Amino acid sequence: EFTAKDFMRYFKAVVDVIEEQKDYLCELDRKLGDGDHGVTMSIGWQAVNEKLENELANEEDPAKVNTTVAKTFLNAVGSSVGPLYATGFIRGAKVIKGKTVINDQDLAEYWIAFGRGIQERGGARVGEKTMVDTLEPFLNELEAKVKKSGDFVGAFTSAVHQAKKGMESTKDLLSKKGRSSRLGDRSIGVQDPGATSCYLILETFLNYVN
Ligand code: ADP
Ligand code: MG
Ligand code: MG
Repeated sequence: EFTAKDFMRYFKAVVDVIEEQKDYLCELDRKLGDGDHGVTMSIGWQAVNEKLENELANEEDPAKVNTTVAKTFLNAVGSSVGPLYATGFIRGAKVIKGKTVINDQDLAEYWIAFGRGIQERGGARVGEKTMVDTLEPFLNELEAKVKKSGDFVGAFTSAVHQAKKGMESTKDLLSKKGRSSRLGDRSIGVQDPGATSCYLILETFLNYVN
């Protein structure tokens, strides 16, 4: 079971994780793109943090928390990831609209809508060295496991494990999308920054489900 308060605790944890990993995300993006991914993510999540502490502080509608997070992130961020993560959380919000208490089935659908939404918005495919390389194995595992066992926590845990492998797989890939695609062969050997931030967002949720 998950409430608006739980979503806010989770988003607050994402704010902290992104802040901790800011330099690492920039370092990856310096090798592959324009070096701003950590800064971009930090700006976006700090803007979210401000909403969590003020406007959203007493919000009880989980969908409203998610749409505010999405819109705030989109407005604060000027790079490729703005519309991608915003779409993810907007699609997630649609799934839980009108519900105050979110059950495990809803949470599974929420994360599937989040991931598929990002894939649709960005149009990237597996193997193109983007966050889709983290998302696709995560989604496949989550969908399969939830269908088989109905155990969301178990399914999510094992999906995050697949997401990690997907993230790590980007290291050996040639970039086909976004700025880093201009590097050609030189993009090989560095893990994709967006695949990395996406993994962090998913992995952080593990601490908030039980
Ligand atoms: P920018 O490239 O505008 O500076 P960021 O550095 O914030 O944006 O984010 C770069 C990340 O965005 C990449 O590492 C990649 O994972 C992700 N990305 C870029 N384009 C796409 C896309 N079309 N689909 C999915 N992810 C993408
Ligand atoms: Mg960049
Ligand atoms: Mg940029």
